[in-house]
Amino acid sequence: MLSSWLFPRGKVCAWCHRQLRHQGDFCRRCRQELQSWVGAYHPCRYCGRLVPLDREPFCRQCREAKPVFQKARAAGPYRGLLKAMIHSLKYQGRRSLAVPLAQLLAGVVLDEFNSGRPDLVIPVPLTAARLQARGFNQAELLARALAAELGLSLAAKALSRVKETAPQINLSRRQRWENLRDAFRVVEAELINGSFVLLVDDVLTTGATASACTQALLAAGAANVIAVTLATGVEDC
Ligand SMILES: [Zn+2]
Ligand SMILES: [Zn+2]
Repeated sequence: MLSSWLFPRGKVCAWCHRQLRHQGDFCRRCRQELQSWVGAYHPCRYCGRLVPLDREPFCRQCREAKPVFQKARAAGPYRGLLKAMIHSLKYQGRRSLAVPLAQLLAGVVLDEFNSGRPDLVIPVPLTAARLQARGFNQAELLARALAAELGLSLAAKALSRVKETAPQINLSRRQRWENLRDAFRVVEAELINGSFVLLVDDVLTTGATASACTQALLAAGAANVIAVTLATGVEDC
């Protein structure tokens, strides 16, 4: 077959290790699964959380209050294969997934953001204790690969997490905000001042973390903040 002649033998899907017969990091079956939400959901125009296609253009949260970041977008819902990939990267230390997953982020950035070229790519930081326990920050791995792919500047240490927060799950929106207040600090203020920032994380659930980071960045003089994550929350009902 011509396609198998054109593609070097041995390149396999970054997830399932099936032999690849086309460009890209994931096989056709994995890519189809990653795209299976398309046609059923659309991203909230502000925060990117997925809303059923027949609903309003904004999620319930953003109808109540517009987020502080300009816009957030994700590659898909925090479910199924995408969730499994994130867990594998984050909790099983499968760091080889960072580069192919960052390719998904690059696709989102190129498709969804037309508000100019960000000056800086900044990962959502972990606390020092969490970083030491895990050995790496998955958001930083993604941000580094994304910046390299798009030719953007990475500022991996510009933001730091000064407060460990209780798990966000089961907290009300107000409690999440309280929980995250003052959790982030800008370390390199001279870098941030006047900059258009692209914030990177693995998952956006309610947007509370991205909002807390944005508030710290804006307080340090950032001109604007957009956010990209691999996965996002889904508003089903
Ligand atoms: Zn595959
Ligand atoms: Zn929203």
